[in-house]
Amino acid sequence: MAEPKTSELMEKIVSLCKRRGFIFQSSEIYGGLNGFWDYGPLGAELKRNIKDCWWRSMIQVRDDVVGLEASIIMHPKIWEASGHTSTFSDLMVDCLLTKKRFRADQVEPQSGIAFSYTGATDATAGKESKDPFSVLVPSAKHVEHARKIARQFYQQRGLENPALLGESSRELQNTAAYNPENGGLLTDPRPFNLMLKTYVGPVESEDNKSYLRPETAQAIFAQFQNVLVTSRQKVPFGIGQIGKAFRNEINPRNFTFRSREFEQMELEFFIRPDEAIEAIYATVAAPAGPGHPGEPQPNWGWQLWHQYWVEERIRFYEGIGLPRQSLVEYWQKPEELAHYARATVDILYKFPFSKQDEKGELMGEELEGIAARSDFDLSQHQRFSGKPMMVFDEELKAACLKLAPAKAAELSARYFEARRKYLVKAGVDAAKAEKQAREDAEALMKGSYVPHVIEPSAGVDRLALALICNAYNEDQAPDEKGKLESRVVMKFNPRIAPIKVAVFPLLKNKPELVSKAKEVRDLLRPHMRVFYDEAGAIGRRYRRQDEAGTPFGVTIDFDTLGEQGPEQKDTVTLRDRDSMKQERVKINELGPMLIEKIR
Ligand code: ATP
Repeated sequence: MAEPKTSELMEKIVSLCKRRGFIFQSSEIYGGLNGFWDYGPLGAELKRNIKDCWWRSMIQVRDDVVGLEASIIMHPKIWEASGHTSTFSDLMVDCLLTKKRFRADQVEPQSGIAFSYTGATDATAGKESKDPFSVLVPSAKHVEHARKIARQFYQQRGLENPALLGESSRELQNTAAYNPENGGLLTDPRPFNLMLKTYVGPVESEDNKSYLRPETAQAIFAQFQNVLVTSRQKVPFGIGQIGKAFRNEINPRNFTFRSREFEQMELEFFIRPDEAIEAIYATVAAPAGPGHPGEPQPNWGWQLWHQYWVEERIRFYEGIGLPRQSLVEYWQKPEELAHYARATVDILYKFPFSKQDEKGELMGEELEGIAARSDFDLSQHQRFSGKPMMVFDEELKAACLKLAPAKAAELSARYFEARRKYLVKAGVDAAKAEKQAREDAEALMKGSYVPHVIEPSAGVDRLALALICNAYNEDQAPDEKGKLESRVVMKFNPRIAPIKVAVFPLLKNKPELVSKAKEVRDLLRPHMRVFYDEAGAIGRRYRRQDEAGTPFGVTIDFDTLGEQGPEQKDTVTLRDRDSMKQERVKINELGPMLIEKIR
């Protein structure tokens, strides 16, 4: 599973992003800030289109999902309840020589001979270091290299001319204890909390410590009751949110893929617990097989809802131009799942920098995770805030009154056990957990429960990068004189393309052409992002738009003015970015035609 160095293709993409104004390094004039990025004019449009597509498809066209826009800094108790304060950490290791920091799970395992030293002395200066150090080299032949690295280590400890002490060697297989870049020993792994801290108010005290949210989801849980009451929704229903999230990633890398500030698009879709479905409908519908399960049905349990959202999300990605074969549906293995999660599917995109499998196939990197999270989140907030997170379900209450006693006992026992398990795992003492779980099971039989949740959680920036990688193409196009030259063309799906149409007067020194072109621009502008360009040869103007990924180009020429006869009057040339085909279109048909193509 070799991880190729950022490929040549990736270098071209990064350079295009800067050259064309998709993505810039944050604070570039001051040398940049690692893990932070700015989106230029084209990137800003692209991101906006991605977010609009998500908001529209997940919220606006549905009856069962509503939106939320919460604050970035929230009460620190939220992060205790969610588990972020105690467990949102990655293991990190530092190179003892260069101090470079790595995420422990990202250190590529290596094999070789480890040369160890117990310390070093500098006789002339009368100095000594008893710090042990070790260097991994590919074979015993490289002992001199190991000694050179070790000497650097002791030089950093103030020994100008170190003589190494106690050299010993041993063979190691697949060890991740050494820096792959120089062979130097790494520190033992230590947890590093990824939340960025700040202080709220004028005093920088522990009491005022707060966090920039590491995910948008928690606000949805914290506002669950307010949204439920004001939106008059009933379970099953969802709450979606788009917004900034911050993680102090140990090792930001792969361009914007792992950043310290990014945006998420998250949906929490609340559903009845399976026991409630069974009480109402006698059985929980079973998945008929893989693929989209169709229109949601009232007897769906968590499994079908989870499958539904996985498939909906894949359709979303396909709908904005990521082909099915560029995506991977990765089902987390039981040992990878969080203890409360029933299933998690990660949707991966095959980025050029993705790892490769044994066959050389790109394995993909996560764009989105879709998790069935049981009732963990709302239950946690219920415990930590002391505020009820339950819903009352009239239908369930009515169904429970009619249940056969044996069935009621069975469902109640199953629900009791699930609640008891959660409470014990959360650290509640066994007797208290048992009492609480019994009350919860009784409440269920009276129609009340904490909803379960399915969470599709996606990153805007990773998707923007996937769309940019996917759009990047090099092909051949004829120049002014018909000679083929290579062109870079960003084949964005028109729905997310930053600019939808470019309008060009054939010549800029012909006022009639210019004024007609501006007329066309103004006609289209209320409906889409239009770019007007009159500078340079028409071929060059096309090429600039190809690089920006503009799907359509409209040229106003002398035919438009009726100079070649009345039948061409008020028609324009419409050029398709991908096929480069041109057709004549009537100006009054242009708007509806383009609106149809970009929808
Ligand atoms: P990873 O394993 O790659 O760190 P994660 O599983 O921690 O990601 P989640 O907590 O599930 O990620 O966050 C949901 C989504 O938010 C991810 O699928 C991704 O699209 C986005 N995301 C998470 N961390 C980052 C980051 N550092 N930079 C950019 N996007 C991110």
